[in-house]
Amino acid sequence: MRLDGIPLWDGTEHRGPADLSWEPDRILDVRPAAAARHGDLCVLPGLVDTHVHLVGWAGSGEPPDFATWPLTTTRDEQVLHGVAHAQRAMRHGVTTLRDLAGDEAQIALRRVFDAGVLPGPRLRVHGVVGMTAGHNDLFVPPAFPLRKPTADGPDECRKLVRVWARAGMDGIKLTTSGGVLSMGDKNVWRNYTREEIRAVVDEAHALGMPVASHAHSADGIRVAAEEGVDSIEHGTLMSEDLAGLLAARRTPVAPTLLINEAIAEGRVPVTAESRQKAAELVATRDVLLARAAALGVRFVLGTDANGHHVRFGDQMAEVVRMTRVLGLDAGAALRAATSDAADAIGVPAGRIAPGLGADLIVLRGRPWERIEDLATENIVAVVSRGRLVAGALPS
Ligand SMILES: [Zn+2]
Repeated sequence: MRLDGIPLWDGTEHRGPADLSWEPDRILDVRPAAAARHGDLCVLPGLVDTHVHLVGWAGSGEPPDFATWPLTTTRDEQVLHGVAHAQRAMRHGVTTLRDLAGDEAQIALRRVFDAGVLPGPRLRVHGVVGMTAGHNDLFVPPAFPLRKPTADGPDECRKLVRVWARAGMDGIKLTTSGGVLSMGDKNVWRNYTREEIRAVVDEAHALGMPVASHAHSADGIRVAAEEGVDSIEHGTLMSEDLAGLLAARRTPVAPTLLINEAIAEGRVPVTAESRQKAAELVATRDVLLARAAALGVRFVLGTDANGHHVRFGDQMAEVVRMTRVLGLDAGAALRAATSDAADAIGVPAGRIAPGLGADLIVLRGRPWERIEDLATENIVAVVSRGRLVAGALPS
């Protein structure tokens, strides 16, 4: 398959008109075009969302209750929603996803997509290590008997990391503060002692797994960064000294902007408790994160899309929002959603170059000059793993 004479934004910058050829699943050749043909279009790499939750309501219309749907829906049915979410993201140009609360279901999706059994994006899956009464433990009401595993104390933390390694996880998700959608906690609750966090990071790294840490509070960000986690998720209450620390370490931060705004403003169905907690975060967020970006913090695309509060397909809107809130220019925001996001999660994606996998978006416009052109309604075609999965390639 090929595209000739199309303006190329290759994951780092605009290269002018190019001729591209690929096969499933490898880019064969990229070279300056013999003749420019599609001046109103462009090609860019598929986007990389470093923070999603595939298993959530994927139907149309008003989503059912976020807290009870997982408890009242069979596992088999939930997995099908996960497939639908992954494929919906792919058709909207997001060809690599990292699920940050995975279990056997997301691993099965990864394997099925990799084997070509079903068309689907590239997946990375992290298993959660969290404490009793921690953020991840509080998505299930106290009286409900079927609960996800928790770990308390350094030894149990190491054990759960090992259980996830055995299951085939790509990495670990750690929680070092409370959160918005968990029930009964506060954003600033401490999640884990330094000794427990150190045990998780040490064990995960020993087994070749990166650690992504959920952290809203300043204390949660600080201890995670100091103990050497590989990314910060949310990072909402990032003080100036923490921004300096994260910038110096080049630790990627996924700011999950749209979800916290949507919850804070009550634009999506949530409890009064969650709305209040999100409002407290968003009140200071824009000033803190814009300053952090100016200090050089490495922000990457991470939406927290789950189908209930942010949809799969909202990723382009999140990238546009990153330019507004963080003050990134269009090129920096595109890199944060492609090459740098791929580097942050250790996947060889987010770039258009010979030898890499063929994940491409053909788009109307010039998003590196005008970020608003990065919109799902401007998608002309999407190629995932070398195969056309949405629209039609220009002839
Ligand atoms: Zn999340």
